[in-house]
Amino acid sequence: MTTSLTIGVLALQGAYEAHAQSLRLLGATPKLIRTPEDLIGPDGKSTVDGLIMPGGESTTMLKFLERNNFFEILKSFVTKTPTFGTCAGAILLANEVEHPAQKSLAALDITVERNAYGRQIDSTILKSETTLPGGPLEMVFIRAPRITRTGPKVETLATRDGFPVLIRSGHLLAATFHPELSDDTRIHKLFLDLVRESKS
Ligand code: GLN
Repeated sequence: MTTSLTIGVLALQGAYEAHAQSLRLLGATPKLIRTPEDLIGPDGKSTVDGLIMPGGESTTMLKFLERNNFFEILKSFVTKTPTFGTCAGAILLANEVEHPAQKSLAALDITVERNAYGRQIDSTILKSETTLPGGPLEMVFIRAPRITRTGPKVETLATRDGFPVLIRSGHLLAATFHPELSDDTRIHKLFLDLVRESKS
């Protein structure tokens, strides 16, 4: 059952509302996260079972995170709590960011190249096989980054032109596309399974 899960959705900027809707469809409760207090309660514990960091503009999100020590609080949070980064969210999670280099939470052992597929006009929708059951998956790429290196503990679940586009490393999941913009809820379900797994 997914009903008992509360999933934070970082709502500083970007495609957070569509993620909240995907979570609702699967019976989870989304909680929009705008401040450190939304994420960590007065008892110092996490207020959510997991967190989604949406697509958008990672540079803009970083600016918001500079306020109220939010960057440091989030950096500590993602070391222990299941987190799913999509597109800009995946850039924030990465150990190394290139093109250009940029600060990140450095939680996930990958290198990403920002805007690797070109400008906004080069955004594209592909259907491709993944390791998930249920046949080919629709993937919406919008000014997507490219994962150019994965560490030894990173599992690749889907690729585009030979580069990983969906990866998992322990309690962290990342996609360079926007699963919240497709009707297929398999990726959000995968994240909820991961959250449940880490709770048990
Ligand atoms: N190009 C954006 C960035 O570098 C990511 C795009 C997206 O999240 N769709 O942050």
